Amino acid sequence: MNEMARDLWSQNDPAAPATRLVVDLDAIARNWLYLKKKLQNGADCAGVVKADAYGLGAATVARELFVQGCRHFFVAKFDEGMAVQAALAEVAKAFPYSPVSDTPVVVDAPTIYVLEGPRGANDLDFISSGLVPVLNSLPDIFYWSATAAKIGRRLPAIIHIDTGMNRLGLSAAEVASLAADHADIFKALDIRYVMSHLACADEPQHPLNAEQLASFHKLTAALGKPLRYSFANSGGIFLGADYHFDLARPGCAIYGINPTGQSENPMLPVVTFEARILQTRIIDSPATVGYGASYRVAPPAKCATVSIGYADGYLRSLTGKGHVFVRGEKCPVIGRVSMDSIVIDVTHMTVEPTPGDAVEILGAQRLVDDVAAEAGTIGYEILTGLGRRTPRHYIGGHTASEG
Ligand SMILES: *Cc1c(COP(=O)(O)O)cnc(C)c1O
Repeated sequence: MNEMARDLWSQNDPAAPATRLVVDLDAIARNWLYLKKKLQNGADCAGVVKADAYGLGAATVARELFVQGCRHFFVAKFDEGMAVQAALAEVAKAFPYSPVSDTPVVVDAPTIYVLEGPRGANDLDFISSGLVPVLNSLPDIFYWSATAAKIGRRLPAIIHIDTGMNRLGLSAAEVASLAADHADIFKALDIRYVMSHLACADEPQHPLNAEQLASFHKLTAALGKPLRYSFANSGGIFLGADYHFDLARPGCAIYGINPTGQSENPMLPVVTFEARILQTRIIDSPATVGYGASYRVAPPAKCATVSIGYADGYLRSLTGKGHVFVRGEKCPVIGRVSMDSIVIDVTHMTVEPTPGDAVEILGAQRLVDDVAAEAGTIGYEILTGLGRRTPRHYIGGHTASEG
């Protein structure tokens, strides 16, 4: 952590906020470059920045990825795409040449793809935005090619085919029908990629991975034309070169979530989320802690109340399961998680904690995946659920600002 970031969190400053969320843009950059380097056969590496870059701030994250060379961005919704586009327009102006290259390389324009397709805006707004829709069904494809014919312009798009996720994308029958009938579709649409999405990429041993790969080969062959392909999410990149194709779409791994399904996480942690001790209290006769009086304390005990709750994204399901770090020591959460606070047991601590002490909720000692496991969920939900009332503070990177 740099000195400036530390100063903002001075323990003795009564005006300092009670929670702090630090996003390390250097770690984000290194994670993305690591993924890019893993890709074989000249595959490009996109950045998935949907849901406000998994809660960390899409504008700032996209800018940093752009500076590192990322030119393909995926969002879920049109409005998210517009926000990323505006952020990238600024950075492209600030960096007409690549700042991370030794020789000046003229920066080419980014492309932003919208996973939900041409929704969330009227067609002309969508088209004039330059965002590229992912077409997830045959009706979507017919609709978009008819729109293209109507305005007399070939429109860029990604075609999404389903290979086993059964969520979005053309079924095998729809692919066959498209293959039989594709002449005017391919005239109307500029198909940038044909993509599919893996259901079990973070379980390398799962048989569905190979089944989906085989299905992808079969269905793309049925389309007949040589096209460009996109298949792997974060986990898919670690399944091997067969899964890489032309464009990988990592999200979670960029943000430090372990994409491998193995215990060793090759990604760097990105987020530090800290709260403070608000009060400490000695309990010297039998008592309960928190709502519902559900936790009984064995006296003598020392508890500390910490300035974080479920409104900040500290999930209520961490009741009786969560742990935090205070002065380098691990402390259990006791009693129910409240809206704005939790109570932790500090009886065992070797150093006396005092009000104002920083409490690590997420960070180098409390990895996102570990907290997710305690909460019975996945790192994605922890990150996207981080409360909006704590501003994201950025360290490192080329274009950091408060967000
Ligand atoms: C969210 C998403 C991704 C990114 O997945 P990660 O597991 O976060 O890497 C890629 N492709 C699609 C279609 C997605 O919805």
